[in-house]
Formats: sequence, C-alpha cells, structure tokens
Amino acid sequence: MKKRILVTGGAGFVGSHLCDRLVAQGHDVLAVDNFYTGDRSNLAQHLSNPRFEVMRHDVTFPLYVEVDEIYNLACPASPIHYQRDPVQTTKTSVIGAINMLGLAKRLGIPILQASTSEIYGDPDVHPQPEDYRGLVSVSGPRACYDEGKRCAETLFFDYQRRHHVPIRVARIFNTYGPRMNRDDGRVVSNFVVQALRGEPITLYGDGRQTRAFCFVDDLVEGLMRLMNVEGTLDGAVNLGNPTEVTIAEIAHRIIALTGSRSEIVYRPLPQDDPRQRCPDITRAKAMLHWTPKVGLDEGLTRTIAYFEALLSASGSSVTPFEPALPELAKTGS
Ligand code: NAD
Ligand code: UDP
Ligand code: UDP
Repeated sequence: MKKRILVTGGAGFVGSHLCDRLVAQGHDVLAVDNFYTGDRSNLAQHLSNPRFEVMRHDVTFPLYVEVDEIYNLACPASPIHYQRDPVQTTKTSVIGAINMLGLAKRLGIPILQASTSEIYGDPDVHPQPEDYRGLVSVSGPRACYDEGKRCAETLFFDYQRRHHVPIRVARIFNTYGPRMNRDDGRVVSNFVVQALRGEPITLYGDGRQTRAFCFVDDLVEGLMRLMNVEGTLDGAVNLGNPTEVTIAEIAHRIIALTGSRSEIVYRPLPQDDPRQRCPDITRAKAMLHWTPKVGLDEGLTRTIAYFEALLSASGSSVTPFEPALPELAKTGS
C-alpha cells in the first residue's frame, strides 16, 4: 500500500538512506530538515521526483502536515555535532518529540523514534539488552544527547499509554556507511579520510574501548521492519550489529583496506567515552526476523569507495584534513 511518509532528519546520513528505500517502494516521501548537520545534496537524487518533497523546518516548532506515518530521526548524532550546541540538542530531542507525537496523535498514525544506544551510557552490563536501565551521567558533555533521547523515549511511552499513539522506539547502535558527514568526527569517517589522505590516524585513549558497527543498509531494513510490525509494542528494540570490535582494530582494518601508510597517533580519550558497547539483538531477531547481513570488511570497503570519490571530486587543492576533535578530547582524561 502506498503511503505518505514523513522523515524528520531526512537530509542526514541515515535519513537520506531511509528516503531512498521509501521512494523506491513508491511511497510519497516528505523529508523535513533544518540542515543543521544534514545536506540537501544527500537527497539530490530525488529532487526532481514529484512524489518526493523536502521542507526546511526545525522540529522544535509545531508542524502541521497530513501524512500516514512518521520516522522521527531529526537530531545531530555525532558527539562533536551534538556537543556544539547542547541546549539545542536537548530541545531537538524533547520538544521535537512532543511536536511529532502531537502530530501523530492528531492524525492517529504510527511514529517511529530514532533512539540510541547512548541511553545506556557507559554500560556496566554487557552486551546491552533492552531491559538494562543504563549508567548515564546527567551532567557530562554527552548528557545533552543521552538525557534528551531518554526523555524523548519517556514521552513516546507516555503518548502510547495516555493517547494510544502507535509508537515504535528503535535503539540504534553505531551505524556507518556512505554519506556519513566527513567532518562529523565519528570514528569511521575520521579514520577513512585520514587513511585515504595518508595522514595520522587519531586513536583516542588506548584503543581498547569497543563498539559494534552496523552498515547503514542493514539499519534501514531494521527500521522499516520495526515500523511495519503488527500490533502494539511493549518497549524499545535494539538495532545494531552485534559484532564487537576494539577501536584499535577498526584503525588497523581501515589501514589494511585502504593500503594506507598512515601511522597511528594517540590522543586523550574524551570524557565519559563508553568503554564497551555491543547490542543484544535477541528481541529484534525474534520480533522482526531481522539480522544484519553486511560484514565489517564489506561495509568498510563500500564506505571507503564513497569517501575516495568524495575526496577526488573535491580535488587536491583542499586544505589538509583536520580531524574533528571533541573539545574534551584535547583536555580529557
Ligand atoms: P545526521 O546528523 O547525519 O542526521 C540528523 C539530521 O537531523 C540532519 O539532517 C540534521 O540537519 C537534522 N536535524 C537536526 N536537528 C534538527 C531540527 N531541530 N529540526 C529538523 N532537523 C534537524 O545523523 P544520523 O547519523 O543520520 O542520525 C539520524 C538519527 O539516528 C538521529 O536521531 C540519531 O540520534 C540516531 N542515531 C544514529 C546513530 C548512528 O550511528 N548514525 C546511532 C544512534 C542513533
Ligand atoms: N502539534 C504539531 N502538529 C500537529 C499537532 C500538534 O506540531 O499536527 C504540536 C503542538 O504544537 C503541541 C504538541 O504537538 O505543542 C503536542 O500536541 P498535543 O496535542 O499532544 O498537546 P497539546 O497541544 O494539548 O499541548
Ligand atoms: N574515536 C577515535 N578516534 C577518532 C574518533 C573517535 O579513537 O578520530 C573513538 C571514540 O573515542 C570512541 C569510538 O571511537 O571510543 C567511537 O566514536 P564515535 O564518535 O564514532 O561514536 P560514539 O562514541 O558516539 O559511539
């Protein structure tokens, strides 16, 4: 069935891939974005399609449109971006959620929230199942994002209980792939760009901290399955690739896959940087019959190809790449 689908944050990394899939299925797609971290160029492939529309709008302001379902992705996602204007980050998560839930309530339509593994903070349970309550700082530099997303989840569950809005809450773990923002300071984009340019790879801390990386196509498949699952859902669902790797290993793999001569340089670990993170995806497997398909080497190879094309299009005259360091990486513990 063809639907009118709203994607907030549609010009961002994940949002633009989601728009690709929804357009390919023949839906009418409305991407709403204030272009804080996203870019219209991520949607260039759809701009002449009459079934696709992009609207510049900030979700902290009310939005009155007529649609059949909502994916609420609007929010800066990389530490360097969400810490740049922390109050705006919290507003986007909390007021944005209230507005999009108000829209879903008025129309009686399903709404999916892009929540995050960051709601588990620096976890002391491993891997993280959905019923783990997390270990989160309320005052640290990551709190604007973590607590904003936690409050957004609370709002989603209250709109479900009080107003019977059909909600879905996806707790997304680290995702990577083409169209990651080159300057967003995330580990995959930083290391790939550094390796391709033969510049030092900036490893924070001793590199023994872990993450589990999901290729963006797998994530988008999981989000769409979650949106389309039948019935009322009780609680959130983790979406991520459960293959856990150290950050040092990511550096070595990227060096090997690019054939780079880059050296590794060590930088201080940012404050509150989680030491270990890996999703327990038992629930997603059972409920959505979903499991990630793209392995790390394949996903990295596709990501490297994207950045190679991007760098060669920007020419050799570009200024040397300055890795995006979070403020606290310069002074942190
Ligand atoms: P991104 O920064 O590429 O995309 C976010 C988009 O939201 C951008 O296009 C940005 O301009 C837009 N935006 C920000 N504030 C807005 C506002 N107030 N109003 C309207 N638009 C606004 O990030 P992403 O990686 O694509 O992440 C998308 C969503 O997924 C985010 O909600 C993020 O928290 C969540 N998520 C992502 C990851 C990941 O690894 N990529 C992990 C966990 C959760
Ligand atoms: N809202 C919106 N679009 C709509 C309906 C509501 O942006 O189509 C906003 C509205 O501005 C309100 C918020 O969503 O601030 C929450 O709406 P709700 O009806 O839940 O609460 P109320 O309006 O009663 O405060
Ligand atoms: N990281 C790193 N070098 C970089 C960028 C990040 O060592 O140039 C580390 C960072 O400290 C963290 C991990 O890589 O331990 C993942 O960082 P990212 O910002 O991608 O995601 P998040 O910390 O939000 O999971």
